[in-house]
Amino acid sequence: MALTPQLSPKPRVLIVGGGYAGLYVAKNLEKQVKARGGVVTIVDPLPYMTYQPFLPEVVGGHIEPRHAVVDRRTHLKASEHVIGKVVKVEHARKTATVQTEDGSEFEIPYQDIVMTAGATTRTFPIPGLAEAGIGLKAIEEAEALRNQILERIEAASTMTDVEEKRRALTFVVVGGGFAGIETIAEMEDIIRATIAKNPRLAQSDARIVLVEAMGRIMPEVSEDQALGVVDHLKTRGIEVLLNTSLSSAEDNLMKLINMQDKSDAGEFYADTLVWTAGVAANGVAKKTDFPVEERGRIEVTPTLQVSDGDGGVLEGAWGCGDVCAVPDLTGAGPGGFCVPNAQHAGRQAKRLAANLLAVRFGAGPVEEYVHKSLGAVAGFGVGKGVGNPLGVKISGLPAWLAHRGYHVMAMPMFERKARIFTGWLNELVWGRDTTAVENLDRPHNAFLEAAGGTPQVGRFESKKALAK
Ligand SMILES: Cc1cc2nc3c(=O)[nH]c(=O)nc-3n(C[C@H](O)[C@H](O)[C@H](O)COP(=O)(O)OP(=O)(O)OC[C@H]3O[C@@H](n4cnc5c(N)ncnc54)[C@H](O)[C@@H]3O)c2cc1C
Repeated sequence: MALTPQLSPKPRVLIVGGGYAGLYVAKNLEKQVKARGGVVTIVDPLPYMTYQPFLPEVVGGHIEPRHAVVDRRTHLKASEHVIGKVVKVEHARKTATVQTEDGSEFEIPYQDIVMTAGATTRTFPIPGLAEAGIGLKAIEEAEALRNQILERIEAASTMTDVEEKRRALTFVVVGGGFAGIETIAEMEDIIRATIAKNPRLAQSDARIVLVEAMGRIMPEVSEDQALGVVDHLKTRGIEVLLNTSLSSAEDNLMKLINMQDKSDAGEFYADTLVWTAGVAANGVAKKTDFPVEERGRIEVTPTLQVSDGDGGVLEGAWGCGDVCAVPDLTGAGPGGFCVPNAQHAGRQAKRLAANLLAVRFGAGPVEEYVHKSLGAVAGFGVGKGVGNPLGVKISGLPAWLAHRGYHVMAMPMFERKARIFTGWLNELVWGRDTTAVENLDRPHNAFLEAAGGTPQVGRFESKKALAK
């Protein structure tokens, strides 16, 4: 155990994960707790919160990557910030163990703990997936994916080998949920816009494939709306493969199987593979002494207190968002629990903060979390979308406007909303920005060359070298 950094000696509310829920818990608590002689401490491996519903718009180039995140030090000035990963929670001792980037560990004592560590991308042991694929849960992934698309298109335009060019211009998304469909739609838009600027390429050179293991996409909307989305994607030249699963991605060779009869469903090479096939509760849940249900989520009660596993609650332990199984008192949630989304996470966070103040300081009543879903809206690129806000089925321009309107309001902090909104206005005036930022994975090359060192090779060059 390393020396503990200088931390506040005050009674602490420790927030494990400063994402969408954690940020709102802190925002609603920090001044109130400080006024009562305590401190709110947020532990997170990253110094910013990412508004994940905007990641597909970052891929599409409508939103600057930095604008889709919120710097916590700027906006939570009364809180204490610790950059690190919670690797253990011993609630019996009211102590959490934090690991910093260099691997050293220290303990933080607390009076109250709030578990808001979210979810991680759910993957399966598919050969080659880890090497060939990229997820879409983090801002870094969205930026890297956008740059990869732009880089592959530019590189393909000087390729003379037909197979190599086809592989560079084949883009695959696995997972037909909301995130996957929004992502492939935004990808298609930026692929088309970029190819249109390159006279050496034709639109027919690009192959864009959606792979979905179930017989339908987007379970959040009705079946007829989902069928309409499939038709819409097809009119944009996207291949939609339902009842199909990826069995291997070794050496970027995508091998597919039919999920109904487990037969071979073809194979092809693709340099770009995006994996959006669901999420799983963050593994930190299992590194606590809290009760965890079968899907790996921390069990909480409708008051957002951690359950004691015996019908009661654990004193000083709270949780909400994707890492917790929050009962859905409206009865609409699958298995009786709230679905993991930002719509619930943000609202749960505000309820949790109010309840914590009530229990710890006697400020106000303790209330159960109840929220009837407002429905969902998805954006498929400028002017396109689908949704069912408040049960009303919409598509096209109204859905896209509803998507942007809802999410810019749900984006935390007025300053971030303003940056995103003015970015959209800029795009309206100047058009889509297809500028690639090259060499982010090897930024030292120019200096290395100048200084007589050996430049590092990038992902695609190293693959070529291996293939030779
Ligand atoms: C592409 C995409 C599109 C989406 N679209 C929508 C949408 O349209 N509508 C909607 O309602 N929802 C949408 N969601 C879901 C929504 O973003 C999440 O449900 C929401 O972010 C959950 O909030 P959270 O605070 O529980 O988790 P997160 O926002 O993921 O925050 C978790 C935080 O915990 C931190 N953390 C992780 N491990 C540790 C650890 N060991 N110690 C400390 N900190 C840790 C992480 O760094 C992160 O900051 C989308 C998600 C994605 C990926």
